[in-house]
Amino acid sequence: MNLIHESHSRLFPSKPFPYQTHVEYNRRLSDFNANIRLRGNTIYLHLNLQWKDIDEEIKIGLIQSLLLRLFKERRTTSNIQLYNNFIKNIPILTPKTKSDPILEQSFQRVNERFFDYQMERPNLQWGKASFRQLAHYNFHDDNVTVSSLFQDVPLEVIDYLMYHELLHKFYKFEHRNGRSAYHTREFKEAEQRYPNQKGTERQLNLIVQKKCRKSFWRLW
Ligand SMILES: [Zn+2]
Repeated sequence: MNLIHESHSRLFPSKPFPYQTHVEYNRRLSDFNANIRLRGNTIYLHLNLQWKDIDEEIKIGLIQSLLLRLFKERRTTSNIQLYNNFIKNIPILTPKTKSDPILEQSFQRVNERFFDYQMERPNLQWGKASFRQLAHYNFHDDNVTVSSLFQDVPLEVIDYLMYHELLHKFYKFEHRNGRSAYHTREFKEAEQRYPNQKGTERQLNLIVQKKCRKSFWRLW
């Protein structure tokens, strides 16, 4: 039995497995990424090469998570729990290669003010000038990305975005009923401890609106 079949039969013990399978490890996917597709009768699994040497029980959890997404079902298994714990620990193992002076200083201020210097620095980078995703924390490569829109805004606003993303690194996620929750109540309460949180949030929205209008007019 191959790994996909094994994952499937542990997940759905009473269901048949009428599929062909195709597994491919490659370097094109980003760190610890993987995806699954069903084409006709074949399940295609693509994994980043980093998965190759990872324990099979963890890989089964990964594949089960992908199968559940594919079949739009929700449940959890001991393998999925193993996989989630593994993901939560990737940041500890990830080399820190990316940084930037503005983001680094922001990280240092936030780490001092809110985390008592206890937070290990993640990778830090500017992303595209995105209006949709202002900032993002990725567990798979321990990376905080901040939209380049914010390269020239008041430090308070950058720090607020940084604080939000570091809270993701700090609280990780909760896995319940087959779903991962990121903005938990605990998370939101911590976020509100940012001094003048409402005011900073307003300031942030104004900056985004203003920049959005500017780039809109530039199109004309
Ligand atoms: Zn968030």
